[in-house]
Amino acid sequence: MSDVCQSCGACCASFRVSFYWAETDAHPLGSVPSHLTRKINETYVCMQGTEQVPVRCIALQGEVGQSVGCQIYDLRSSTCREFDAGSDICNQARQKIGLAPIVAD
Ligand code: SF4
Ligand code: SF4
Repeated sequence: MSDVCQSCGACCASFRVSFYWAETDAHPLGSVPSHLTRKINETYVCMQGTEQVPVRCIALQGEVGQSVGCQIYDLRSSTCREFDAGSDICNQARQKIGLAPIVAD
């Protein structure tokens, strides 16, 4: 996680984090531990805890808005890898927990 993310974690506690099932270790080339996921349908799974309200990914450690970490950082899905700090959706999540937006340079 980037420095700014280590004191945030809002996205991991805001959205359903879904991805193609073959990104899990149920597939020989997948990485995400499948026991931390939930089946959505024949094609997609999501991180456990992100399919419910309040949302909180099972792999998120620490306190949102204070100090957080991802327990499966090196194994996380493309959905997590491609989530950009400073994007509109990131700033929406930050706003929900009372953090200031990240402003691009
Ligand atoms: S909401 Fe943005 S700043 Fe916060 S952890 Fe996610 S990507 Fe990082
Ligand atoms: S797997 Fe890690 S980066 Fe992805 S939502 Fe969960 S805690 Fe966040």
